[in-house]
Amino acid sequence: MNLVKVGETMKFDVVVIGGGPSGLMAAIAAGEKGAKVLLIDKGDKLGRKLAISGGGRCNVTNRLPVEEIIKHIPGNGKFLYSAFSIFNNEDIIKFFEGLGIALKEEDHGRMFPVSNKAQSVVEALLQQLEKLNVKVFKNSPVADMIYIDNHVAAVILKDGQKIAAQSVVIAVGGKSVPHTGSTGDGYAWAEKAGHTITDLFPTEVPVTSAEPFIQNKTLQGLSLRDIELSVLNPKGKPLISHRMDMIFTHFGISGPAVLRCSQFVVKAMKKWNLSEVTMCLDALPNQKEEELYREIIKLVKREPKKSIKNTLKGLLPERYLLFLLEQNQIDPSAQGGTISNEKIFSFTKSCKQFRFKVNGTLSLEKAFVTGGGVSVKEINPKTMGSKLMNGLYFCGEILDIHGYTGGYNITSALVTGRLAGSNAALFAKA
Ligand SMILES: Cc1cc2nc3c(=O)[nH]c(=O)nc-3n(C[C@H](O)[C@H](O)[C@H](O)COP(=O)(O)OP(=O)(O)OC[C@H]3O[C@@H](n4cnc5c(N)ncnc54)[C@H](O)[C@@H]3O)c2cc1C
Repeated sequence: MNLVKVGETMKFDVVVIGGGPSGLMAAIAAGEKGAKVLLIDKGDKLGRKLAISGGGRCNVTNRLPVEEIIKHIPGNGKFLYSAFSIFNNEDIIKFFEGLGIALKEEDHGRMFPVSNKAQSVVEALLQQLEKLNVKVFKNSPVADMIYIDNHVAAVILKDGQKIAAQSVVIAVGGKSVPHTGSTGDGYAWAEKAGHTITDLFPTEVPVTSAEPFIQNKTLQGLSLRDIELSVLNPKGKPLISHRMDMIFTHFGISGPAVLRCSQFVVKAMKKWNLSEVTMCLDALPNQKEEELYREIIKLVKREPKKSIKNTLKGLLPERYLLFLLEQNQIDPSAQGGTISNEKIFSFTKSCKQFRFKVNGTLSLEKAFVTGGGVSVKEINPKTMGSKLMNGLYFCGEILDIHGYTGGYNITSALVTGRLAGSNAALFAKA
C-alpha cells in the first residue's frame, strides 16, 4: 500500500494530476524509481482522450528520425531536443513492446498497436500502474495547489481533501475536447506558482470560410488527394505549404493538409490583425503550370470539337473540374476549339493556384490539440521541472508544445511525462 497517513492528511512522494498519456507515463516512471505515487483523475476512467485518439486506433508515436519528429512539432518542438536525448520515440516503441503491446508502422512513419485498438494501449498502461503499486484516485477532481516557501506542499481535491506531496506533476492536458476531461484546470495552478501561460489557440482544427462556394455547399463532401495547400501572407507569399489530402465541408475545409495549415491561419490572422486569410490550393502539385498549360492546349487541338469537360476528363475529380471551369466562365459542354487561350490559361492557373479566403477555425474545444500553454522558457528541458517552484513538474499538452497529427502529440506527452515522473521521484527522494 502506497498510502501513508500523517494525522488526517495523506502524504505521497509524488502526486500526478491527470491520467492522460503524459500523466500515466509520469506515474509509471515515478513508480519505477520506487517512489510512493498517487495518480489523481477527475473522470471515472483514465486515458479517455488516448482511447479515442487516432480514430480509436491510437497513433502512439512516429518512427521518423528525431530531427524529423521535432520538425513536425511546430509549437516549440526544439524544446524537446534534451528530452529526446534521454527518452525518444524508439524508447516509446521499446517501452510498449515491454508491456506486451507490439506496434506496427504505417504511412509517414505513424506507429499503431498491432491490435488496432487504442484501448489495448490504455489497458497496458493501467496494468503497469498496478504492477508498480501506484495508487489511483478516480472521480477526484483537483481544485487547487498549495505552495509553501517556494515549494510544492499539497494538492486540494474538490471535496476539500488535502493530499501532501514532496513533488507534484501537473498533467491535466489542454482545453480541447473537454468531454474527455481536459478543461484547462491546470493553467490557474501554474499561474499561482508564477508561471506564464502563453495565448491559447486551436490547432489541428478544421478551417472555416465565408466564400460563396462554401456557403452554397457546392463542393461539400469532395475529397482531394495529394494536393498542396498553402496559407499566404498579406503579400501573397506562402507562410506554409502542406502536401496531403483535404476535404470540403459545409463550413469550410478539413482533412490532414488543412489541420496542419490551421495554426498558420490562426497565427496570420492574429499577427496582421486580419479578418480573412488567403489560402492557395494546388490540385496538381506534380506538374508545372507551364507544362500543364501546354498539355491542355495540345489535347484541345487534337480534338477541337470535343466538349472541354470530356477533353479534360480524368485531369481532376469531376466535381472539382466542373467547379474550376465554372470559376473561369467556361461552359463545360463548349467545344474545346471555341475556348480562347486566355481562358485556358486562367483555368490552368486555377488548377495550380486556386485562391480562396478563410475566416478562422472551429473552436478550441473542437480542435484536436491546444496551442499555447505553460511557457517552456520557465521549464527545465532536461527534467520538466518548474524553474520557479521547487517540486513542481509539468508534462503533456498543458505545456506550450503542440505538434501535427501523426503521433507527434502523444509522443510529446509520453516523452515529457517520462522525464517529469522520473525527476519528480528523484526530487522527492532527495
Ligand atoms: C479525437 C482526438 C484524436 C487524437 N489523436 C491523436 C493521435 O492519434 N496521435 C497523437 O499524437 N495525438 C492525438 N491527439 C492528441 C493527443 O490525444 C493529446 O495531445 C494527448 O492526449 C495529451 O495528453 P495529456 O496527457 O497531456 O492530456 P489528456 O490526454 O488531455 O489528459 C488529461 C487528463 O487530466 C485529467 N484532468 C483534467 N483536469 C483535472 C482535474 N482538475 N483534476 C484531476 N484530473 C484532471 C483529465 O480527466 C484527463 O484524463 C488526439 C486528440 C483528439 C481530441
